[in-house]
Amino acid sequence: MDFPLDQEGVWCEVLRRPVPGAAALFLDRDGVVVDDIGYLCRVEDVVLIPEAAAAIAAANARRIAVILVTNQSGIGCNLYGWQEFADVQQRIVTLLAAAGATLDAVYAAPHHPEGRDAWRHADHPARKPNPGMLTRAATEFGLDLKRSWMIGDKSSDVAAARRAGLGGALHVLTGHGAAERQRLAAMAGDGFELRFGASIADALSLPILSTAAA
Ligand SMILES: [Mg+2]
Repeated sequence: MDFPLDQEGVWCEVLRRPVPGAAALFLDRDGVVVDDIGYLCRVEDVVLIPEAAAAIAAANARRIAVILVTNQSGIGCNLYGWQEFADVQQRIVTLLAAAGATLDAVYAAPHHPEGRDAWRHADHPARKPNPGMLTRAATEFGLDLKRSWMIGDKSSDVAAARRAGLGGALHVLTGHGAAERQRLAAMAGDGFELRFGASIADALSLPILSTAAA
């Protein structure tokens, strides 16, 4: 099977091309959209976090691009492969569709400082906390990053959002959120808004989702 990988080996999948100039809701995957069990790679282990589909559907209704951005060092470290990733993604897409929710694009960075061969990279620009996956999507789709938000459970998600020039990030307590929250104190400011929530359900109160549907 052919996988949608760029020359660097980053997964860049377009499911539905966003409206040009759209704001985006960038979502970390593990611990935000699905339970983070650690190196999720089996279809039967995919469990959606409650309200994930509702939050995504709300963004869909407002023509906000919904873009999954996930570090997948398990691939870089040979714990599983792109086929397992593809199968898990298909399951997530199917579960979301059953609840009326659609992802517009998916980016996954397999590199890791201790990865194997081509995936070994000390600080790959696509791997969060670097902003490469977000800026790549912005270029690809002409997104309005200033109006865009990120939802993540790790400080690296928030850092990637800030470095990409997003309007803000919502940090949630699902996944690794509780352990990571104390690292976030200094990350707000300079036009970057940091909000704290319990889960992706709190996306519904973000500025881009709490106004009337387009
Ligand atoms: Mg996560």
